[in-house]
Amino acid sequence: MNIEQALERCNELIKAAHANWIGISNQIAIRKILNYEEIMQKELIETKEHNRQLALELEKKDKEIDEMTEYITNLDIDEDICKNNITQPELCNEEYSNCKECIKQYFYKKVE
Ligand SMILES: [Zn+2]
Repeated sequence: MNIEQALERCNELIKAAHANWIGISNQIAIRKILNYEEIMQKELIETKEHNRQLALELEKKDKEIDEMTEYITNLDIDEDICKNNITQPELCNEEYSNCKECIKQYFYKKVE
């Protein structure tokens, strides 16, 4: 029995026709569980939608960071930032033209 079948069975059990052999108090208990399950399903759907929105916002922020990094790289201040970047010095080249990641790391460290 999967969860859908179990829910279907429970929805059947709370019908008035079964009150005699199940008992009213048991039907009330089943109804409470069904209501709780319905609330949890709605919250799960809302949470998934919220997470999807957050993922889109993060994606947009990443693009903004990429744009800013590109701009900073072109300002020719990369050398200063690279001197501060010791996490991934292998990314740097001599002309510091390959330092977009250095710039990002430099600013990420500032907000940690
Ligand atoms: Zn660098």
